[in-house]
Amino acid sequence: MRQEMIGQDPLAEYLGHFERLIGDKRTSKTFGAIVRGIINAGSLICQRIAAHSPLLSATKDGAQRVIRLARGESTKRSDLDAEHLVEVLCERGVHAKVVSELREEGISCVIWITDTNTRRSPMKDCSTRVAESLAQMVREQAHEIVGQGTPASISEMEVTICQAVRQLAAQWVEIWLGEMGGALAPPEIPCTCGDQAVYTRLREGVLMTIFGRISFKRRYYLCSQCHQGQYPLDTELGYKPGEITPQLASMAGWVGAELPFQRGSELLEALCGITLSENTIREATQRIGDEVREQEAEWKAESQDVASLRKRDSLPQDGKPARLYGSLDGVLVPEGERWRELKIGSWYREARARDSTSSDQDTPPAIDITYYCDITEAEEFGQLLWATGYQRWADQAQELVFVADAAVWIWNLVSDYYPNAVQIVDWYHALEYITPIANVAFGENTAESKAWREQVTSDLWGGHFDQVLAAFQA
Ligand SMILES: [Zn+2]
Repeated sequence: MRQEMIGQDPLAEYLGHFERLIGDKRTSKTFGAIVRGIINAGSLICQRIAAHSPLLSATKDGAQRVIRLARGESTKRSDLDAEHLVEVLCERGVHAKVVSELREEGISCVIWITDTNTRRSPMKDCSTRVAESLAQMVREQAHEIVGQGTPASISEMEVTICQAVRQLAAQWVEIWLGEMGGALAPPEIPCTCGDQAVYTRLREGVLMTIFGRISFKRRYYLCSQCHQGQYPLDTELGYKPGEITPQLASMAGWVGAELPFQRGSELLEALCGITLSENTIREATQRIGDEVREQEAEWKAESQDVASLRKRDSLPQDGKPARLYGSLDGVLVPEGERWRELKIGSWYREARARDSTSSDQDTPPAIDITYYCDITEAEEFGQLLWATGYQRWADQAQELVFVADAAVWIWNLVSDYYPNAVQIVDWYHALEYITPIANVAFGENTAESKAWREQVTSDLWGGHFDQVLAAFQA
């Protein structure tokens, strides 16, 4: 029984198969050089070579290793002799039993491929640990679930698997938090007072995520000078105790904007298995509202900045947006005891025929829509109309079209801010004016009333405005 490292690499071994066919040494050498050149270019041939080696074919990056080998990069030939090899193999984690089995089987050739880079990547180590932990969890969970027997129905199957996946996801977050915390582990960190805060102990933190409540341990540092404590991981994550994650906050805010908070809480629980109180949803929704308000305040300031306005005015005509639409409306909403008008506005473009997936070519869909709203008087709402329009380049649009109902405040604002805009009262609201006139002139639901209404409607649709006006005046 003899064990030794032999000098042949997988590439030489592969090329060896061709030597018999080539015959003379010179051609063989040229052939070898050409193949190495091809490999250096990263050819598919590396996969073929790797496939010849039981070891390389078992790994995912076998072909890459062959390329490195050909380039003489990281795969270096060992200078170990047989005696020392066993020692090193044991040291590097190959079980002594395996080594002795190799010996007993009379293995004479060992190609040992190892990562000789001593400065290993912490990210790589981390992902390996995470993958190992998760694999272990999946195994344990699967055993537990399988132990409970086959689900009786597809619903039971879905519920069971869904719970398992959520649990796994929560554990994954926990592991990652642990890894991040571990990476931020100096014995001392600077304190705001100028002194140093010293690592004291691990303390538990709780995070509400879309996978549920997750508790994690993070390092706590205390300054002996000013007695101020700090958690570097919390700072890194932007986390404040008791807060929900931004992802969950955005879900809660969305639900809170669509539904009463209590109903939103029930919906999140039913659909996503997320338990959030009515209050948490309210807070998340209000926080999003605050963010929108801050954004709008910035826009207002920008849209009233003279320098910024001048710069846009100097833009060449063809650089300005083509047609843009605006719309405004009001709706009554309860605010405590009284009802107030919520004013809503939107900006949008019309999809061109080729953008449109709709088969109805007469009514191309509105795209690229932005909304804004406020419960306020028209005058103040006008600032928002201007500020949001400024973001959409409404003041610079080659054609600006407003479509809205006939409310006076709407057209006053449009005339004030966008005097050149095309003003269109939307079709359904325009029709609303026709019926009362018809009723007054010809009596309610009479044949004459109906006939007049149909004629005016048809004239209006056909764009015969003179005839419409004449009918109204008559
Ligand atoms: Zn301090």
